Amino acid sequence: SRQMWDRPGQLGSLRLDHRLIMGSMHLNLEARDDHGAALAAFYAERARGGASLIVTGGIAVNRVGAGGRMYAIIGDPEHEQGLARAVAAAHEGGAKIAAQLFHAGRYAFESAFGLTPVAPSAVYSRFSRCMPEAMTEDQIRQTLADFARAAATVRALGFDAIEVMASEGYVVNQFLSPLTNQRDDHWGGDAVRRRNFPLELLRMIKHVSGELPVIFRISGADLVPDSSTPEEIADFAVALADEGVDAINVGVGWHEAQIPTVQTLVPQGVWVPVAESIKDALVAAGHDVPVIASNRVNHVDHAEQILAGAKIDFVSMARPFLADPAFVSKARNGRLELVNTCIACNEACIDRSIGDTPVSCLVNPRAGRELEFPQGAGATGRFAVIGGGPAGLEAARALADLGNQVTLYEAEDELGGQFRMARRVPGKRDFGETIRYFTAELARLGVDVRLGHPITDRDEAELSGCGGIVLATGVLPREVELPGADRANVISYHQALADPESIGDRVAIIGGGGIAVDLAHLLVDDGTGDLAGRQQGFLGEWGLAEPAAEHQPPKPTRTVTLMRRTGRVGSGMGLTTRWAVVGSIRHHGVRMLTDIDYQEITDDGLVITDADGERQLIAADTVIIAAGQERNDSLVAMIAGLGVPYRVVGGAESTAGLNAVRATSQGLQAAYEL
Ligand code: SF4
Repeated sequence: SRQMWDRPGQLGSLRLDHRLIMGSMHLNLEARDDHGAALAAFYAERARGGASLIVTGGIAVNRVGAGGRMYAIIGDPEHEQGLARAVAAAHEGGAKIAAQLFHAGRYAFESAFGLTPVAPSAVYSRFSRCMPEAMTEDQIRQTLADFARAAATVRALGFDAIEVMASEGYVVNQFLSPLTNQRDDHWGGDAVRRRNFPLELLRMIKHVSGELPVIFRISGADLVPDSSTPEEIADFAVALADEGVDAINVGVGWHEAQIPTVQTLVPQGVWVPVAESIKDALVAAGHDVPVIASNRVNHVDHAEQILAGAKIDFVSMARPFLADPAFVSKARNGRLELVNTCIACNEACIDRSIGDTPVSCLVNPRAGRELEFPQGAGATGRFAVIGGGPAGLEAARALADLGNQVTLYEAEDELGGQFRMARRVPGKRDFGETIRYFTAELARLGVDVRLGHPITDRDEAELSGCGGIVLATGVLPREVELPGADRANVISYHQALADPESIGDRVAIIGGGGIAVDLAHLLVDDGTGDLAGRQQGFLGEWGLAEPAAEHQPPKPTRTVTLMRRTGRVGSGMGLTTRWAVVGSIRHHGVRMLTDIDYQEITDDGLVITDADGERQLIAADTVIIAAGQERNDSLVAMIAGLGVPYRVVGGAESTAGLNAVRATSQGLQAAYEL
């Protein structure tokens, strides 16, 4: 029998093939000067891959409401033309497409167009670093009219549904919250009046949208102190249903929230009860409006579980469609091992969507660049890829996908490179899924994978017969020159991640970049335990629930001190990830020292001079060196001497701001260049 997720569902008048909705993602392709070509190619591939309903990124209903320079804006003929092309692409691929109508309010960036953002009240926004102007009555009426006009426009452009962005702290959400709506008029003053803007908005949209279903994406929990209460939110959902809304999509968390919602360290499913409580409220009020759950759902199996809970009608998945445009059809065909799983790193997607850089994906660097890297077998060369970390894996995949015969040499006994270590870090278990995916995909593509095969002189003959070589040998841990660095109590981060059990109770970490932070996280929170326990632990840690007695996380037995000479702890980590992980290790008692100097390592630990120039002993049983990496370029000279075209990619090419996004993107690029 078909799985729950794969059963048709009804959104108002719209019948959908299955229950997994592609959630809204702003891509920074929307306003590109290409008549919508890249955007259309992006959607087309997802439609062909089995998406039932695609929700576009936010489409600004006017200029002042745009979330940035690269937003599509209603009223701009070029943008509207691009959207029409996106609609055609989705339909050709067999999907329906909903237009998300958007106004950022105080989350607009003044710098985008030099316009002062407008909002219900003049309340400073830490997210956009601006003080908005409070809207006048006329401006409110005009904004409502702009939404209605936008609804009429997208209907005319051929969209199948409309989603109103009323969550994440954007303008509709700002009207609802007492924090950002301090008016005392028809539009604010108490919870009932704060609802007038969204309810009027729904009525006006319904008036012009005809048969198109209207979805409201509401905030199930703002996660900012003193904002709307759960009761107010439930009442709002019921009021929307009273006014005939066709579905409610439940998001969580404002951009200003200081609680992580979609980062790796957020346990799966932790927000599902928020959506379920909205459904409960609707049912209690006699409404049968479908509810869509979203946030941090990255596996089809997990979506299936949520739907099996019988309250939720649809599941919205956004980033998984970046990571794998065809995961729905793969799941349908029972090929879950071939799904490229989103690892929730945010590095190429959410982090970029906040600026102007086009969104892509760490594990799928073709995302958003489908036209630059067209698929299609036809090539027949013979290629070698040396190194099976993220860069080499992507290079091998892309070369083979183009039709080439590819041999991948990996010195270790397993593929994955740095991802083999990363998957041990709390919340990063899914990095192991990336290894699983590439292993299965390379096998499917017939890549000859040679594990435990370091390159030596005996490989020269074989390599020199290739049409091209991709060198992706990655990095080596940087060593530090410090008296005592060769002592038995000193290990590299490599060794530490490979065998965390061997580490003593008192730990000093030399280095404060992303790896050091991840390592500290692992040492104080091993990320194990059942899902319910981790969910409870997460809610307790971030002040959202009293940890239940049986789920009390064991008190960390380790004391960890992390030290960095200069710069911020965790610099180089992603914009939306750093604060969450650094916050979490702080919650777990990790001591972080900066502006220090290392003096020597003794049997008792690490001697430093602190910010005041005082000598201090950081007592430690184990000193871990996580002071960055060096290029492993040991093979470059040999490969260069073969007279075969080659590319050096990933960490082997450069460790400056080393990140896996660049590594996989370079791997892809190399495959197309060679
Ligand atoms: Fe997921 Fe990271 Fe890709 Fe974003 S960049 S879709 S978070 S894997």
